[in-house]
Amino acid sequence: MSSAELFLGGEAGESAYRAAMGRATDAVLSSFADDEDPYSGFSPEELADQFDEPVIPETGTGLASAIDEVAETVLAHSVGTSNPHCVAHLQCPPIIPGLAAESMLAATNQSLDSFDQAPAATVIEERVVTALCSLFDLPAMADGVFTSGGTQSNVQALLLARDRFCSRAFGRDVQQRGLPPEAEELRIVCSAEAHFTGKQAAHHLGLGEDAVVTVPTDERHRMDLDALDATLADVDGTPFALVATAGTTDFGSVDPLDDIADRAREAALWFHVDAAYGGALAVTDRRDLLDGIDRADSVAVDFHKLFYQPISCGALLLRDRASFEWMARNAAYLNPEAHDDAGVPNLVGKSMQTTRRFDALKPYLTFRALGREGLSTLIESTLELAEDAASLVANAEDFELLGDPTLNAVVFRYRPEEGMADETVSRINAATREALLADGRAIVARTTVDGVTSLKFTLLNPTTTLDDVGAMLDIIRECAESVVAGREVAE
Ligand SMILES: *Cc1c(COP(=O)(O)O)cnc(C)c1O
Repeated sequence: MSSAELFLGGEAGESAYRAAMGRATDAVLSSFADDEDPYSGFSPEELADQFDEPVIPETGTGLASAIDEVAETVLAHSVGTSNPHCVAHLQCPPIIPGLAAESMLAATNQSLDSFDQAPAATVIEERVVTALCSLFDLPAMADGVFTSGGTQSNVQALLLARDRFCSRAFGRDVQQRGLPPEAEELRIVCSAEAHFTGKQAAHHLGLGEDAVVTVPTDERHRMDLDALDATLADVDGTPFALVATAGTTDFGSVDPLDDIADRAREAALWFHVDAAYGGALAVTDRRDLLDGIDRADSVAVDFHKLFYQPISCGALLLRDRASFEWMARNAAYLNPEAHDDAGVPNLVGKSMQTTRRFDALKPYLTFRALGREGLSTLIESTLELAEDAASLVANAEDFELLGDPTLNAVVFRYRPEEGMADETVSRINAATREALLADGRAIVARTTVDGVTSLKFTLLNPTTTLDDVGAMLDIIRECAESVVAGREVAE
């Protein structure tokens, strides 16, 4: 292939691009058409065995045949995220406007670290961020930046919180001088059901996972306010951040944000809301679940979950744009104009990344195409489905429902006899989940509730119906019965 056929810019490139995109699109569509089930059931060994060609051959095969090979070996054994029976994780079916945006942002390859690498993209990201800040009712001084997702949003929020606290409490410039001697005392407070990335962030920030103090949750898996008061009253150490979760991973529960905001204000703590999952409620009629989010110092929101965008796509929003000062960088070669002229945006100073994707285009195009209403209808349909699915599980004699869903998660166990020992139930459900993955007809998640292995549907897909849920329960029952019959779980 000549370079003219490998790059966009001339006629040869144009037709090569059309041909390649057309072939890739056909490969994707036919892999969907061929796969009735969400997974082929291949084991890691079977997958490894089919890739025996060298990754870097001396001579290439040409693009068309390389695409065909990927279709056969990779797409055919990918998990069908758009399949109505793929309901394990917070892994969404990507929405078509997001896929269209993804192909445009890839082809144009804008990089948000400097204005001259991404002029319109810079302005659009800023506009999307402003719209998000107002969606969460943050004040006019709010600002934000796109991130790779909740992990990065959480670590960045806690970094800013830590450095502001160290500056105010110890007069320490952490960016320049590193952690102060008092760092060992610093604490982050969150609920026992907060996402593990809070602990991960504490590690990455040099505070250690022991810096995270967890508050017990109530029967609906929300942070318990009395327990929070007790924790704040006699915590061993110096808390600087209080983290609430809007949409926990296992149960979709939303902490009482407004009440937690009160505590954060009284104790002068940075109030971070991890709304990676539940932030999408802001466009729905259930947005009152998020009451109090407008009082956050920072909000993490993901678009690659309940906003249906292709991975990766997230944002961190800050109540006060001045908080970005704790990580400002002066790279002279990037954005020299920004140093001379305050009118030129300088996004590199707001991000932990340098070269950075124009992911903001995906929610932008989707919002423009569907409007708030269109998105709300989609999201609400999944919340209703989760409620109906929970009733279906509750009414089945051999399944045990573990709580009413707040968002899309329905957590349950197969328990064929009421008196069956928890240990046996754990073994049966764990073996059933393994059997399901090898079977491939339904992809469900596994979690542990009160020490007992359980199963979970995360019903994000607006095309999944209650009939699909019924069919999946039948498949689970079938796998569980064969697990029991095969005595694979015998002591
Ligand atoms: C998914 C999730 C995260 C991690 O976000 P990534 O996008 O996977 O980096 C953090 N917190 C919550 C509540 C989440 O749901």
